Amino acid sequence: MKLVDSHCHLDDEKFSADREAVIERALAAGIARMMAIGTGDGPADLETAVRLADRYPFFYATVGVHPHDAAKATEETFAKLRDLLAHPKVLALGEIGLDYHYDFSPRDVQRAVFVRQLELARDSGKPIVIHTREAWSDTMQVLREHYAGAGIFHCFTGGPVEAQEGLDFGFHLSFGGVLTFPKAEPVREVARLTPADRLLVETDAPYLAPVPHRGKRNEPAFLVETVRKLAEIRRISADELAAITTRNFERLCLRYTG
Ligand SMILES: [Zn+2]
Ligand SMILES: [Zn+2]
Repeated sequence: MKLVDSHCHLDDEKFSADREAVIERALAAGIARMMAIGTGDGPADLETAVRLADRYPFFYATVGVHPHDAAKATEETFAKLRDLLAHPKVLALGEIGLDYHYDFSPRDVQRAVFVRQLELARDSGKPIVIHTREAWSDTMQVLREHYAGAGIFHCFTGGPVEAQEGLDFGFHLSFGGVLTFPKAEPVREVARLTPADRLLVETDAPYLAPVPHRGKRNEPAFLVETVRKLAEIRRISADELAAITTRNFERLCLRYTG
């Protein structure tokens, strides 16, 4: 089984002590490729994921300003992002969006920085990775007004109405460890009904570890638990699901790199 973890934060300091071992376990578990999300240290360092992609053949990267860090973005940030988006292993712009749960940056600033990054994505032609929390309708409104390209709703935990809206907009839904949580029946229902050609899987490591690792630091090797659950929900084999999600990732993200 060969899998793609389409969203992980392997640059996180929680991996500083044993990153090599984590990577070894991922490869041994069949995680053949990983998309490192480059929002870790905010605008002060936009290359946290690019460094992983430069170092390891199986890592790809994103660049972007997380909504949490929106207030720290400057003109220099956007110029730097524009440059980094030309890097052949930077496959997407993200994670970007709106987070009204924490409100670490003022909402109007979050929206403005989101819009600026949508413009950058549009110019680059590369897809976007969306983070949205307690901000669904504003997220969709900004997307409708400012974006017409491809994208991923990462760690999708919305209901059927939101899922349909996201799918109608042409986006992919990426499912993570939440799928294995006992109370996540609505998410499993959405995951069951999502068209096969719009499905992706991710860990969001070090966050949101799937059962039976729940509560621990998440790592890419744990993706197999989420894949098993999703395969069970959809009544297909894990191998089949691995092939489907790998194909989707390649079609969506590897158009520029071959
Ligand atoms: Zn996120
Ligand atoms: Zn993330």
